[in-house]
Amino acid sequence: MELVFATNNRDKIKEIQAMMPAKITVVSLKDIGCFEDIPETMNTIEANAIQKATYVYENYGYDCFADDTGLEVKALNGEPGVFSARYAGEEKNPKKNMQKLLDNLGDETDRAAHFKTVIALYANNKLTTYTGICKGEITHQKKGNKGFGYDPIFKPEGSETTFAEMTMSSKNKISHRAKAIKKLVDNINNALAE
Ligand code: IMP
Repeated sequence: MELVFATNNRDKIKEIQAMMPAKITVVSLKDIGCFEDIPETMNTIEANAIQKATYVYENYGYDCFADDTGLEVKALNGEPGVFSARYAGEEKNPKKNMQKLLDNLGDETDRAAHFKTVIALYANNKLTTYTGICKGEITHQKKGNKGFGYDPIFKPEGSETTFAEMTMSSKNKISHRAKAIKKLVDNINNALAE
């Protein structure tokens, strides 16, 4: 059975395929001949994931899931949130994004933040969503050079190091994305067992 993941990011496809039941083959947008930019114009992480999955389902007729992730910082009223990728501008530069976040937070002592991933699944004419949250805090300085995005300034709860100082497999045990993927996969396994 094929399931479209509304992305062309090979690493994301590989990560999720490894967790899926063997019966399911995860295919990319390219694989279904979708080369256009899927609209991502909503104001929340949930709504963006739903918009992407619905777009593929309605325009290409495939069962599909889509993800959207953001970093929500408490003292900044949930910013950068849905704007995480382009916080410091459309060029989507991670260094500039991190610098803007550190500047905006200044010497604020409440540095609580969390990553949130929402996966929207459109299958059998039904829409469902799966949310994964990873709580933590924003550090004062960048640390580590692994990972991507805001990893060098995010320290997950219970950890002495930032995401960027962890191996990929340690990060994947506790990450927002892994938690959302696990919920999606559990749901698919249950549906297959019925
Ligand atoms: P996307 O929805 O997966 O494309 O994520 C949107 C943006 O959130 C990315 O461009 C990154 O800036 C940030 N982001 C998402 N996941 C992570 C993560 O695991 N670590 C650090 N930053 C992330």
